[in-house]
Amino acid sequence: MRLVQLIHYLITSILMAEDSKTNQELDFDPEALRRKYKEERDKRIRPDGNNQYQKMTGEFSSYIEDPYVNDKIERAPFTDKKTVVVIGGGFAGLLAVVRLKDAGIRDIRLIEKGGDIGGTWYFNRYPGAACDTESYVYLPLCEELDYIPKSKYAYAPEIFAHCQRIAKAYNIYDIACLQTDVTGLEWDDSSSHWTIKTNRNDAMQAQFVIMCNGPFNKPKLPGIEGISSFKGHTFHTSRWDYAYTGGDENGDLENLLDKKVGIIGTGATSVQCIPHLGASAKELYVFQRTPSTIDVRANRPTDPNWVKSLEAGWQKERMDNFNEITLGKIVEKDLVMDGWTEIITNLVSLTKYRQQKINPAEIPALMELADFKKMESIRARVDSIVKDPKTAASLKPYYRLFCKRPCFHDEYLPTFNRENVHLIDTDGKGVTSINEKGVIANDHQYDLDCIIFATGFEVGTGYTNRAGYDPIGKHGLKLSEKWANGIRTLHSFHVQGFPNLFVIGHAHGGYTTSYTHSFDVKAKHLSYIIDECIQQRMEQVEVTAQAEQAWVDKIIRVYRNVEKFNSECTPGYYNNEGHSNPLFAQNSAYGKGAIAYFAILEKWREAGNFEGLKFS
Ligand code: NDP
Repeated sequence: MRLVQLIHYLITSILMAEDSKTNQELDFDPEALRRKYKEERDKRIRPDGNNQYQKMTGEFSSYIEDPYVNDKIERAPFTDKKTVVVIGGGFAGLLAVVRLKDAGIRDIRLIEKGGDIGGTWYFNRYPGAACDTESYVYLPLCEELDYIPKSKYAYAPEIFAHCQRIAKAYNIYDIACLQTDVTGLEWDDSSSHWTIKTNRNDAMQAQFVIMCNGPFNKPKLPGIEGISSFKGHTFHTSRWDYAYTGGDENGDLENLLDKKVGIIGTGATSVQCIPHLGASAKELYVFQRTPSTIDVRANRPTDPNWVKSLEAGWQKERMDNFNEITLGKIVEKDLVMDGWTEIITNLVSLTKYRQQKINPAEIPALMELADFKKMESIRARVDSIVKDPKTAASLKPYYRLFCKRPCFHDEYLPTFNRENVHLIDTDGKGVTSINEKGVIANDHQYDLDCIIFATGFEVGTGYTNRAGYDPIGKHGLKLSEKWANGIRTLHSFHVQGFPNLFVIGHAHGGYTTSYTHSFDVKAKHLSYIIDECIQQRMEQVEVTAQAEQAWVDKIIRVYRNVEKFNSECTPGYYNNEGHSNPLFAQNSAYGKGAIAYFAILEKWREAGNFEGLKFS
């Protein structure tokens, strides 16, 4: 037996022994926890579900204005024609351009609404913003650009600077059309081009369009009564107002020293900015509806000796390794060794159980037990850090780990030991109302100078709503109409009736925690197809109705049904705020995961016959 197998055997034996403990031997009562989880969930379920939130339109549109633009670009509208237009300048859009250029395609334009490229990393500049995926995996093109991230987890300014580095290296600024919001997209079948309309009165044309709108591009507000009546200052975390708070992404928010600040929401964003608010504000009131899970972060500077040891191909190897582990494969070595690889290996991966030849019927119970243990350790961590027992009790999450986005932080919990920081636990009810002086919660008035909304982004609303435009394909059919009864694509990119239009998104593709990895695979795939079209002097490429139907059928067939799990979860955007949706299966990601999905794309390219696509 090889050493790794031996170690693996020993670990799995220990896990099995642990898993087979009787209830008397466990230091918690699973049945009591089950009851508690249900109780906590039930008090949070709302009949209005996702409709509890409001869009930032009309009187709220100022919340999404770009605060980082100093000089508005003045330019004449574009009416010219490009071979490819890429919509969105985040990592997906940048990688799309990079891979098109690698394929030799030069006549490209990238449209981005922000004042610079970067997407989510341009807009999310709140203090403490960082990425939870390891920087050596998350930041793409590190080897190509000879760049080594500064620490294991990169903060937002470094990630934004990396986006700019990519844009400079690949001359993307020369083709970028910034401060420009797409408002419409319409196909002209007779001359085989899309017309792209924007808020700058552009009516530019493109033979091909790649849509990279991003998953969290539309911030949302809670529908709290009286929200517009507050006379103090307000903003959303995705447009941090440093002019008001002072300081920068590193904190030191000196203008808050004499301010009473309230923050609504305790999700992944809040977890990162609250330590800075706590350090600067005179008084900080944290309005919590549901606590997040706060696991160990253990960020550290990049080890120069590790850097010296790196060999060519290191980043791809690391990205593949992280992707394999987080998609449930057992690998010889975990190169990343962090919270994600640990929790996914131990809680979500079925491979462990399959390898142990455990009866499939027993697996759900074993997974639940492993989850209880993990959550018990997360709750124990709260007790070990937060001094006030009542505050500690409020900060303990009671749900299964993947009901909500897991968070990793080492300064969040200690912030609640500060005398100026007050946790307002609304016991699942949320803020009751807002009035001109501040916030009402738990029948108490909290007078405030400033309210910060850390209330997240639209998820689960229609694709075209979030995009902000509704492409019109052949015969005047809108994409929203086409997808009214569920998303229909081939391989997540191609939609029948919408020639030369490609979607880079999550639905119908293989989901992975490693977003940039997935974007790159998709970008390479699309540049291969577009290049073929150009080489063959074809004007159009469109998926056939049969190929689209076959992929939809496959998506439904391999759908990983998590509806039971979701139905027992506390509400959030992971489970459509606790409401089932008949379109879950059809709108899901490819159920066998990203590795299998990437393999399908690769095999499809290798076959070389562009199966399912019609060129004309
Ligand atoms: P979330 O949607 O995760 O959090 C919104 C928060 O607002 C929740 O705590 C929610 O409570 C709360 N809320 C909503 N309405 C009310 C109300 N009426 N009263 C009180 N509280 C309310 O948004 P985030 O911006 O935190 O995160 C969005 C996503 O962005 C993350 O899930 C993650 O994928 C990504 N992200 C990643 C980061 C990273 O890599 N570290 C950092 C930041 C974001 P409830 O839970 O009860 O619904």
